[in-house]
Amino acid sequence: MKHFAIVPGDGIGPEVVKVGTDCMEALCEISSFDFDGELFNIGGQRYLETGELLTDQDISDLKKKDAIYFGAIGDPRIKPGILEGGILLKMRAVFDQYINLRPVTSWFPYVPLKREVPFDIHFLRENTEDFYMGLGAKLRKDNGYRAEIGVKRESYDMGFDIKAEPSEDDEYSIEVGLLSRKGVTRFADYAFKYAQARGEDKVTLVDKANVITNNYGMQREIFQQKADEYGMKLDFMFVDAMSMAMIVRPETFGTVAVPNLFGDILTDLGAQLQGGLGMGGSGNINPHGLSMFEPIHGSAPDIAGQGKANPIAAVLAAEMLLDNQGFPEEGRMLHAAVRHCLDTMQVTPDLGGKLRTEEVGKAMVDFI
Ligand code: ATP
Ligand code: MG
Repeated sequence: MKHFAIVPGDGIGPEVVKVGTDCMEALCEISSFDFDGELFNIGGQRYLETGELLTDQDISDLKKKDAIYFGAIGDPRIKPGILEGGILLKMRAVFDQYINLRPVTSWFPYVPLKREVPFDIHFLRENTEDFYMGLGAKLRKDNGYRAEIGVKRESYDMGFDIKAEPSEDDEYSIEVGLLSRKGVTRFADYAFKYAQARGEDKVTLVDKANVITNNYGMQREIFQQKADEYGMKLDFMFVDAMSMAMIVRPETFGTVAVPNLFGDILTDLGAQLQGGLGMGGSGNINPHGLSMFEPIHGSAPDIAGQGKANPIAAVLAAEMLLDNQGFPEEGRMLHAAVRHCLDTMQVTPDLGGKLRTEEVGKAMVDFI
């Protein structure tokens, strides 16, 4: 029996998570898979009522679970950044979910693809380092153009001195992209393990090592060591070339490892390539700890409560959750249920269909 935390969240989150949990319950009836889902009230609604984001109690309750199934959080009444920082980023940090997994899969002909060749790219985005550590500073005359740059774990004195006397209104800012050998090594290790588990013999590493030479040079070296260790192949792609290649030959990629900033950008490109926000699932994974699976879209307040939300992204997130929890066969059944709904056009208006969210859910459950 698996124990999942279910965090429906705000907006369309609860609507699509309901479909995903209904599908998982249907699976329990026809397979050895079994789970109990405990609902967690975390998100914008609770924040407005109580001022609480992610409490210590939440964290210790979540820690007891095998995995988290997450909808979306967001509320137009709340200043941007508060929920993201106080809940999502905090969760990633406390559970050290250092891999962001994003499959980009074609569902032709039901989505607006450029190419009719099927593709299935699995992006692994590093989730904790690179340019997204908030590691930077303003350098001004009043601080002597010196910066004490602090992160949670350590403090880096940049010792940054500008020799020439700058004018009164001069100001500089720096943002540091930091990679650690430890961080890259665990990332690379997961990438090769993941590719191997998918029956592939190669990982593609995306970077910009020709310009950002220190960071991505070290990253290449570490990935190469891991490739040798696993006896697998390693391909390099520059991120600019990769964004073109994703459009013209997406079928040539399998497992793709990409650092944090470039991963953010490429996976949004991937989302459109596969048919929009309603079609993608994602995982925030700690291979040795608590992982969380969610649709790639947000709370979409503009369509909340109208039955228009496409539940496919949430169901694909449930598929990834099952795969991660050791139930790949059951995961494939959810995949097949999605395929069935697309083949029979039992889909929501964003895909040109006429069904409501819960009707798509019912079609999937009946199929299972
Ligand atoms: P948040 O602040 O929580 O990210 P958002 O307003 O940015 O919310 P998103 O969920 O990121 O909304 O999506 C942007 C738009 O895409 C939505 O306003 C909605 O119209 C559409 N959309 C997103 N997800 C879905 C879905 N599952 N089904 C149909 N349309 C969707
Ligand atoms: Mg959004």
